[in-house]
Amino acid sequence: MAERHAVISGASIAGLSAAFWLRRTGWRVTVLERAEAFRDGGQNVDVRGVAREVLARMGLTEAVKAQNTTETGTVFVDAGGRVLAELPSDGPDGATAELEVLRGDFARTILEHLPEGVEITYGDTITDVADTTGAVTVTTASGRVLSADLLVVAEGVRSATRDRLFGDLVDRRDLGIAMVFGTIPRTASDDSRWRWYTTTGGRQVHLRPDNHGTTRAMLAHARAADLTRLDRADALARFRERFADAGWEARRVLDGFDTSTDVYVDQLTQIRMPVWHRGRVCLAGDAGWCVTPMGGGGASLALVSGYVLAACLSTTADRYEEGLAAYEKWMRPLVDDVQGFPRWLVPFAYPRTRLGLALRRLVDKAITSSLLSPLTAKLTQVADTTRALPPIGAAHA
Ligand SMILES: Cc1cc2nc3c(=O)[nH]c(=O)nc-3n(C[C@H](O)[C@H](O)[C@H](O)COP(=O)(O)OP(=O)(O)OC[C@H]3O[C@@H](n4cnc5c(N)ncnc54)[C@H](O)[C@@H]3O)c2cc1C
Repeated sequence: MAERHAVISGASIAGLSAAFWLRRTGWRVTVLERAEAFRDGGQNVDVRGVAREVLARMGLTEAVKAQNTTETGTVFVDAGGRVLAELPSDGPDGATAELEVLRGDFARTILEHLPEGVEITYGDTITDVADTTGAVTVTTASGRVLSADLLVVAEGVRSATRDRLFGDLVDRRDLGIAMVFGTIPRTASDDSRWRWYTTTGGRQVHLRPDNHGTTRAMLAHARAADLTRLDRADALARFRERFADAGWEARRVLDGFDTSTDVYVDQLTQIRMPVWHRGRVCLAGDAGWCVTPMGGGGASLALVSGYVLAACLSTTADRYEEGLAAYEKWMRPLVDDVQGFPRWLVPFAYPRTRLGLALRRLVDKAITSSLLSPLTAKLTQVADTTRALPPIGAAHA
């Protein structure tokens, strides 16, 4: 069979995993990334469930382990920093997973281990796609015209190419939670645990250790308007207003964000779609099914999707429709499992009133008790399946 050509848009976890596996299975691969250079940054992501098996098949388990964030567990704290409840890091899928790594370190690890021959172009985006029978022609902002057998759209939750090609099918569910992430200097009060502070007004402050000698901080505010369209200074000013009286380490985080180089603002939005492919175009990762940190496991699902896509296309030769349908069928139960959390979870996790906060703290105590630990363990299980991964076709094994 002649060498097949895939264009992949987006060079983060889903796009790089697809590049890795499609190249491994004999494709010519061209990756386009909008950013001018590799995008570093981001907080902890974890490799759970069947994603551990995919990582092992990539030969990257030890490389990811070597970049462990050093976090040893999770504690819920009050305004004085006193520990109210504690979730230990117990086993591969505990609250702090065994394979816990910063998003940027994870993506760079895949990038640095791509098979020979993957072409990556930074600072370019797709401006037009012509999906004709049996081929797809991609035109880019820099004027390139690429003829391919497959276009993989892995542009994340706010994917423009997805909206252009699948717009009528995109169901966006804004969870009403604004988050800002960034890296701040470590201080003597930071320890090896993820410290999680919840207060009234639907506000949370998170501090987590990293393996670079700094601290990863996050502020989250529920019932918030979307701040992702504001520029950085305006978005941070809005967080400053909202967290002015939040207490604990909120002020330190806000001051740190003023000079942080990797501030990332997000509005948690689930993406739900009835299909993830049309003709010779398919979606991977958050572009197709963003689960948000409320569901958890976005990075694991993104990693798995690259393998499953390449495996399904390796056994169906030029029967693309069959291969892409098999990819969707395999991935969908994993996605449904994390997208379907109960609606009351958001107001419960982000209480507005003192009463709500008291209730939340009671439940935190209960779920961290040894009595309920089997139930709690289920909450952090994602990408969990008893199904075997689809095999890679013999010609490509
Ligand atoms: C800089 C950054 C920081 C993040 N920080 C966190 C975090 O702290 N916590 C968390 O839970 N999740 C974070 N995420 C999201 C997390 O990476 C994803 O939820 C998950 O890993 C799935 O990855 P993905 O590859 O599908 O999407 P993403 O990781 O969102 O990657 C999408 C990629 O596509 C690129 N792109 C977007 N539009 C275009 C376009 N039109 N053309 C070409 N390329 C395009 C983006 O620059 C990006 O590299 C972050 C993502 C990024 C990009």
